[in-house]
Amino acid sequence: MIVSIISVGNELLNGDTLNSNAACLGQRLADLGLAVHHETCVPDDHAAIAEALLTALATSTVVLTIGGLGPTRDDLTRTAVAQALGRPLHDNPAVANAIRDYLRRRGVAIPAEAVRLQALVPEGASVLPNPNGTAPGLWCDLEAGRAVVLLPGPPGEFIPMVDDEVMPRLRARLPAALAAPRVVRVAGVAESVVEATTLAALRDLPPLGLAYCAKPGCVTVRLTDPLHPDLLNAAEERLRQAFQTRALPAACASPAEHVGIILRQRGLHLATAESCTGGLIAAAVTDLPGSSEWFTGAVVAYANAWKERFLDVNADLLNRHGAVSQPVVSAMLDSLTRRYHADAAIAVSGVAGPGGGTPDKPVGTVFLGVAVPGHAQVMRLDLPGSRQNVRERTVAMAFVTLREALLTHPPTPANRTA
Ligand code: AMP
Ligand code: MG
Repeated sequence: MIVSIISVGNELLNGDTLNSNAACLGQRLADLGLAVHHETCVPDDHAAIAEALLTALATSTVVLTIGGLGPTRDDLTRTAVAQALGRPLHDNPAVANAIRDYLRRRGVAIPAEAVRLQALVPEGASVLPNPNGTAPGLWCDLEAGRAVVLLPGPPGEFIPMVDDEVMPRLRARLPAALAAPRVVRVAGVAESVVEATTLAALRDLPPLGLAYCAKPGCVTVRLTDPLHPDLLNAAEERLRQAFQTRALPAACASPAEHVGIILRQRGLHLATAESCTGGLIAAAVTDLPGSSEWFTGAVVAYANAWKERFLDVNADLLNRHGAVSQPVVSAMLDSLTRRYHADAAIAVSGVAGPGGGTPDKPVGTVFLGVAVPGHAQVMRLDLPGSRQNVRERTVAMAFVTLREALLTHPPTPANRTA
């Protein structure tokens, strides 16, 4: 099955809105073992939408459109697609009722014409219910098993509709035995090393689809071969063997998630002391559902006065070594374990830039400390890139380093706390 995506909206082209829906759809399709053949983004323009549709249909089995189903003048997808397919639009009373119901429950009044426009359905199309908004999705089956599927743009409507309506229908059209791709995530290893190790580990296996996606601190290796599940199992096993503890458990999407699992298993609590990251590490922790079970809090101490007052850093230490230094981060770490009784701790202080660099501590110099029961370490990082980059990479390295410390220092009778 060949799938293509057409995203519709001026706001996507001029950069006002990030095309997060296409990314989300691409991930869902890849999980199903389907690759997107191509994705087009067109403005809110009748002719552009129609042209993109006909182009996509020339090569694709299923074309999914995103956006432009709303009630305003710039929402043209429904009419453009209906016209390009030669399908007249009909009033659909059941859809109009569902829209009025949705609006009544929310106490919102919109003009009758706006309801009518969103309740127009191309002849022969089926309606995909939208419990989170007004415009329903529309599924138009064409000849020879092809289909055009129209989906609403607001992510809060789009994502549930993809998950609840579109994916089950696509899955039902695929051969039952199609093997889902396997994913191995590798923490703290450079992308080129991940590739070299992967190729060596799979050398004597038959060829299979391989893709790498690098994010700070974690590289994802995706293995695809929809027709050979045994080969995928063997390849995944080889990679897990090759990467050992660098490979995250299959259920973990990130090093941070794995840190959370280990801390919860061991009954340990984490606290952070953050200068240059300004709370970003704590934000990443609290992004994870259930983190209250293993995270106590953060001290964001930007100014030296706060490092002294809330993290017990000695003024003399700050004067002698500067806030971005090994001894200061070591003191921050000590404060977390002593004063705040953290079992596990992360402390960071660095020069995020663009100003503030010196010859011996240029922009990108970060001291990162982690502590786990029975062990503490502070390392110097020299990170490249912009302020945003330095901060993002510091957050990533914090989780990678804490994870490694937890794995290399398993609980012993002396340091067991739970
Ligand atoms: P529309 O259905 O085109 O009127 O879009 C409604 C809302 O959804 C607008 O706020 C759009 O910015 C947003 N939206 C539309 N398409 C996308 C997309 N591909 N990714 C993320 N948001 C989108
Ligand atoms: Mg739009």
